[in-house]
Amino acid sequence: MYLYNSASRKKELFVPNHPDIVKMYTCGPTVYHFAHIGNLRSYIMEDVLEKYLRYVGYPVKRVMNITDVGHLTSDADEGEDKMLKGARREHKTVMEIAKFYTDAFFDDCGKLNIKRPDVVEPATNCIDEYIKIISELMDTGYAYFAGGNVYFDTSKLDRYYVFNDFNADDLDVGVREGVEEDTNKRNKNDFVLWFTKSKFEDQALKWDSPWGVGYPGWHIECSGISMKHLGEDLDIHCGGIDNAFPHHTNEIAQSESYLGHKWCNWWMHVLHLNTTSGKMSKSSGEFLTVSLLEEKGYDPLSYRFFCLQSHYRKSLVFTWENLDNAQGAYRKLIARIAGLKPGDGAVDQAVFEELTGKFKAAMDNDLNTSLAVTALYDVLKAKTNDETKLALIADLDRVLSLSLIEKADAKREELKKAEAAKASGAAGSFAIISESGEDDPEVTAKIEARRAAKKAKDFALADQIREELRAAGIELTDLPTGVTWKRV
Ligand code: AMP
Ligand code: ZN
Repeated sequence: MYLYNSASRKKELFVPNHPDIVKMYTCGPTVYHFAHIGNLRSYIMEDVLEKYLRYVGYPVKRVMNITDVGHLTSDADEGEDKMLKGARREHKTVMEIAKFYTDAFFDDCGKLNIKRPDVVEPATNCIDEYIKIISELMDTGYAYFAGGNVYFDTSKLDRYYVFNDFNADDLDVGVREGVEEDTNKRNKNDFVLWFTKSKFEDQALKWDSPWGVGYPGWHIECSGISMKHLGEDLDIHCGGIDNAFPHHTNEIAQSESYLGHKWCNWWMHVLHLNTTSGKMSKSSGEFLTVSLLEEKGYDPLSYRFFCLQSHYRKSLVFTWENLDNAQGAYRKLIARIAGLKPGDGAVDQAVFEELTGKFKAAMDNDLNTSLAVTALYDVLKAKTNDETKLALIADLDRVLSLSLIEKADAKREELKKAEAAKASGAAGSFAIISESGEDDPEVTAKIEARRAAKKAKDFALADQIREELRAAGIELTDLPTGVTWKRV
């Protein structure tokens, strides 16, 4: 498998450090707000990577942090703790909002079929690990104490900017407009390992340390949590591209200075989901959540499908039209799978191998998920029996996680019900079926009126009736034998 490595800026053959385990670390959410669908693009693609590694036979141990302390409003250690800001916004304690938004994050992940990592660790659980690393960095001269905080001294490294060839001026995150420069730093990109001084005296969570009562910086948490659960080396570290600098750059600086050897071999960065006006971000306050997609009648898995249709190393522009197209294609795909007849013969192993081979070739090439999705259509077109096609779709969906078999089964059931209703003459040869089993004469009348409009080729009226129903929260699915409807 070839995987692009941001550290070498090349696709490289993936070989784990230990044959019996792939150690994978993912930067988790800062739980001061709901995750937006941009954040979730990163988690979807990381989920695909983990599942593909398992698919090809690697045992994986995946660890993720939950940032519940220390991530300040500017990534360059300036401003206020995001958690504290979130707590104030909602008149709650920091721990209350951490719990609320951690649960909300995993609910969203569940709706998008994102597997929970093997270990999920809140940053506030590992204070001793951070203190151990920082103490060692102080002893070996990589860290210094100034103005009440402990800083990492980036001038001690031969090569600090590992992900790019930018010069220090291009990466001048330390001094942003409207943000005061921290005059305690010896070098512009030195970063805080431990804070005791804050302009914001109401910092909620504080711990005792050799440098005074305070709290850890954001970067040290990922090094500490990774080493606690995965030891002194790591195969793959993932995150969104904005994490590459300064967060991951700082993680490498402190981890390798502490360990005295290379820490992580592969860095996987997912490019951003953008709106037509720029990057989707939590701090701007303008962002879309999974719940909002659901409120608008979208299946969250249509969003997963949308993400899979493009490569993780290309930025992706979100528009409602793009999502509509993805949802339409996803529904059609399910309808086609529902049309397959299970149990029509034995699985043809040769075809199975050939088509999983196509899928693997796409995925082995730096997780080309758009080609991997195309492999699903190749399966549908293949000259083989339906049982083989269904076995292939179930197999590919172990990685793609689009619930294709479950949804196709449900669709097949719908069709069966429609057939049964037709046979019993429920509404002439045209069945109107509520998916929940409820009876609503008004809805039935509207669906009948739509059918009459279609018969009379008045498609504008038919569309208008469908829109009226949609506005009332009712979604229709056309079947060859009638219509099913549900409240969304
Ligand atoms: P945060 O909760 O802000 O710490 O971010 C969680 C993850 O989402 C990190 O890996 C970020 O790099 C990633 N991320 C943030 N914004 C976007 C975006 N617009 N598109 C994709 N990933 C993002
Ligand atoms: Zn991190």
